[in-house]
Amino acid sequence: CGIVGYIGNLDSKEILLKGLEKLEYRGYDSAGIAVMNEEGVHVFKEKGRIADLREGVNTDVFASAGIGHTRWATHGVPSKENSHPHQSTSTRFTLVHNGVIENYDLLKREYLTGVEFKSETDTEVIVQMIELFVGEGLHVEEAFRKTLKLLHGSYALGLLDEQDRETIYVAKNKSPLLVGLGDEFNVVASDAMAMLQVTNQYVELMDKEIVIVKKDFVTIKNLNGDVIKRDPYTAELDM
Ligand code: GLU
Repeated sequence: CGIVGYIGNLDSKEILLKGLEKLEYRGYDSAGIAVMNEEGVHVFKEKGRIADLREGVNTDVFASAGIGHTRWATHGVPSKENSHPHQSTSTRFTLVHNGVIENYDLLKREYLTGVEFKSETDTEVIVQMIELFVGEGLHVEEAFRKTLKLLHGSYALGLLDEQDRETIYVAKNKSPLLVGLGDEFNVVASDAMAMLQVTNQYVELMDKEIVIVKKDFVTIKNLNGDVIKRDPYTAELDM
């Protein structure tokens, strides 16, 4: 299972699909991408191989920001409905997740009793909570950090906000995630291998950090919102 993301000037679909193919060795049962442009967020997902996903991706959609996911089901059977990305009820927020949220059922009962769920995953709880807190008046980044503070378990996350096409939010705890730096673009990936075709400059993330990823810069913060400075390193792997 794995996560990829891209924000820049190029069309993201092929970059995301290629990235996911590089992560195939990690194992998966479903795959999906979400790309964002002026029309909104477009989600493509499929149970089965990335080759199957590819066939369903509308090649007419041009979008220079997006996230991708390969799923290894832990909560909910492998199916199209349970595959990622998952969206909040309003579809404003779109999320990919690797890992396991141990207290998802408790959170669901405590915060989301009125919400109709579209999947059986632990992941959908996260995206619905972000929408809930934004609805209560928090800025997206604050809602993201507040939600993460309530989660018990492991996660690598990628989040899109339909109302902000300039940003991808990511976070990690006990699941791998890296940020890759480019010229006029930035990427995220579970493994540098996924994005070595576009950059060899990476920034490591620590547990319970979020990153606000824009095409020109990235900002790392802890869950309290304090900015963290960290230098990139050069990944030297054989391709
Ligand atoms: N727990 C999530 C699910 O079952 C994510 C699994 C994964 O890491 O791919 O959908």
